[in-house]
Amino acid sequence: MKKLIKEMEEYAKYNDIPIMQLEGINFMCNFIKEHNIKSILEIGSAIGYSAIRMALLDKDIKIVTIERDDIRYQKAIENIHKAGLEKQITIYHDDALETIINGTFDMLFIDAAKAQYIKFFERYESNVKKNGFIITDNLKFHGFVEHKELVTSRNLRQLVTKIGKFVDYLKNREDYETKFLDYGDGIGISRKK
Ligand code: SAH
Ligand code: MG
Repeated sequence: MKKLIKEMEEYAKYNDIPIMQLEGINFMCNFIKEHNIKSILEIGSAIGYSAIRMALLDKDIKIVTIERDDIRYQKAIENIHKAGLEKQITIYHDDALETIINGTFDMLFIDAAKAQYIKFFERYESNVKKNGFIITDNLKFHGFVEHKELVTSRNLRQLVTKIGKFVDYLKNREDYETKFLDYGDGIGISRKK
């Protein structure tokens, strides 16, 4: 299994696929263990790396994950099969802005298009149990969120502004208690009160 994980990390590196940084995924895996999380809804599977890492923590963990890109979805299917985790991971090939997911989960992990974070949050928050968690990745966006003056391209600046707005949005959601952590590219942890 270690070999498969390494292979995925290499594949992501060579093909510019933004899988979670090691520090971030390691933090999240510990968090899942500590809080005894058994059901996870993930938005943005890419090649299945984070889903596989999380599923390997415990055979009672079940993951539903959504990916819209054809090639990444195919690659994720292949990796989940190689890992023998088909029973634990269900992957949907769809645009997560349109998918309808039934049931509730201990944790929602949002790791898809950064500009749409509020939309994902609002679409899937009803799928999170009371006292469950919503985790969002890339809130620092390579440090640009705190140093917008470093961003020269207009498109990138718009994206950085949107992530900053999402951070403010989380701070203002009083029905959640949100902590911001510095691991990896910046992680938000919101507990549903
Ligand atoms: N969680 C993965 C990395 C995800 S990268 C890991 O750490 O291993 C973000 C992924 O979200 C990309 O593969 C992208 O294609 C996907 N994505 C972006 N917008 C999406 C949408 N609206 N619906 C489904 N997937 C989306
Ligand atoms: Mg990410």
